[in-house]
Amino acid sequence: MTDLVEEITLRLDKPPDCPRCEGESLLLARFPHSWRNASGEVVPGIREAVLCRGCDRGERPADDLIALFAVDELLDHNNVDTFGELAAAWVESVRHRSADESMLADEEERWRRGDL
Ligand SMILES: [Zn+2]
Repeated sequence: MTDLVEEITLRLDKPPDCPRCEGESLLLARFPHSWRNASGEVVPGIREAVLCRGCDRGERPADDLIALFAVDELLDHNNVDTFGELAAAWVESVRHRSADESMLADEEERWRRGDL
């Protein structure tokens, strides 16, 4: 699993709005995600997820990560290790979410159209 974690990209600078509530998100994560097409072939792709203060509250480890933002909007060298660990745990939880989420379906549609 550790080799996958290294492929995760995190963006803190102006992440896109949350697709669920259209509010401001805290963080954008981009990570490899494979899925099966209609023919049953595995298609490697990239998936994105945002961390939302509203929508992800109450879910762990998202809650722990949100709490870190609440303590200090600007991450510094004192908490970057904690942040990295929580972010990796959060991405893992997002990665294992049900594959029929509308956000993922939307990305697959974009992939088929060649937008990604
Ligand atoms: Zn939201």
